[in-house]
Amino acid sequence: MALSNTEYNAILREYEALQAARQQLLRARKAELNRVLPGYRALEQEIADRAMARYRAAVGGDKEALTGLKAELEELEKQKSALLCTAGYPDDFLAPPYHCEHCKDTGFADGEKCRCFRQKMIARLSRQGRLAASIREENFKHFSLDYYSDERKVPGLNMSERAYMEQLVLAQCKAYLRNFDKRKGNLLFTGKPGLGKTFLSHCIAGELLSRGKTVVYLSAEELFSLLAATQWRQRAESDEEKIRAREEREFREYIYGCDFLIIDDLGTEFGNAFTASAFFTLLNERLITKRGTLISTNLDPKQLKAQYTERSTSRILGEYDILPFYGSDIRAKKRKQ
Ligand SMILES: [Zn+2]
Repeated sequence: MALSNTEYNAILREYEALQAARQQLLRARKAELNRVLPGYRALEQEIADRAMARYRAAVGGDKEALTGLKAELEELEKQKSALLCTAGYPDDFLAPPYHCEHCKDTGFADGEKCRCFRQKMIARLSRQGRLAASIREENFKHFSLDYYSDERKVPGLNMSERAYMEQLVLAQCKAYLRNFDKRKGNLLFTGKPGLGKTFLSHCIAGELLSRGKTVVYLSAEELFSLLAATQWRQRAESDEEKIRAREEREFREYIYGCDFLIIDDLGTEFGNAFTASAFFTLLNERLITKRGTLISTNLDPKQLKAQYTERSTSRILGEYDILPFYGSDIRAKKRKQ
């Protein structure tokens, strides 16, 4: 997984910004305490003065100077906490939590990149990074049925494309969201390019993100290259191998463990037997652990079975609500406007 220097530096700057924001918060809180709780400042001064005086005495040869100092300072610290508490401040008022306690928002822990750093790397390497921008434009409010024909009928159904999109596809997506906390479930969007599959998956992702769910959005190509990157792990025991093994564990937590996983454009990736089987292991495990997955593909179910193995696809497809998209290329229509 390679990240450009610019992207790497951008991540470092994110951490700098987090640290700066925390420092600023701390300064503001200290200033507030000085203002409304002068006794607190006095206690801090007392601690500093007493420690300084006793250390001076010790340096000057007084062998007893430091005896009992630790207990005295602890007592003063207790008074500080009590004062904060009585004034109605939380205990951690001057030690607010970090976004990541493991690395204390530095991005590094135990001399290595922290897990949160690696998540940021994956995010930047994938569609995930572009998701936030997309969902500002592509949400249910902006989803327009006007792009679907009022006249042309959906094959096999006595229904216009527009009515079909509204009453079946859109309605089912909304039902999916309503029931998400209860049953999660899985969706498969099929159909030619340009029929709104990606748009609707952004709509669902945005809705779930706003509800505080963890959402991971990858193109099939990105997913398969991540799967391939973890392929060779089984072999040696070198340090590099161990680092890779840990990366894979973190990758698994991220991809296997998110509440909602979107895999876009299945069928366009370059895979091999290993990645195809790793892919179905992933889908299978998400089924077992009851986490929601959405796959969009230009292939129809028959083509999917041809491209992957029948055995694995039928197991998976049996568990997905399949929503075929109909219509004509929306992107072409938008360009004409
Ligand atoms: Zn961290």
